[in-house]
Amino acid sequence: MGAIVRSETYYRRPPTCTQAKWDAATWPERALIYLEYVLRMRIPRPEGDNGLTAWARIDSGRWLAECPTCSSAQIVTPTDPRMTCCRDFTGWTTLAMPADPDAVEAPLLGLPTREQFWWADDDPANPNQPPADPGPTDPGGES
Ligand SMILES: [Zn+2]
Repeated sequence: MGAIVRSETYYRRPPTCTQAKWDAATWPERALIYLEYVLRMRIPRPEGDNGLTAWARIDSGRWLAECPTCSSAQIVTPTDPRMTCCRDFTGWTTLAMPADPDAVEAPLLGLPTREQFWWADDDPANPNQPPADPGPTDPGGES
């Protein structure tokens, strides 16, 4: 139980990054600094937006988004809704975030982490889709 994890609560400055460099970076850039350290690899910095959008969701108590190209997931934040992929280096992807993320988080805060899930209504991955329109009722009797 507890607060929904965002970039701000997940990514920590690695010992290989100076405090000044960390402080100068945005949260999506800090995610790259952290991932470079954890993955022990260099990640090219994005050169502008890639024109792609990814849906942000809450998944097991974390704000998550998946790369629209390869589906690798990353912890993200509503305060700077961008991500870049550390697998295929596609540039900055814009995240579709709710207008009021705090209101989305509020009803989840008292739940166990395993029950902290949320999808945007329009997200095609949302498993809580309204039932399909059954279409006109078959009047029957025609045979
Ligand atoms: Zn990717």
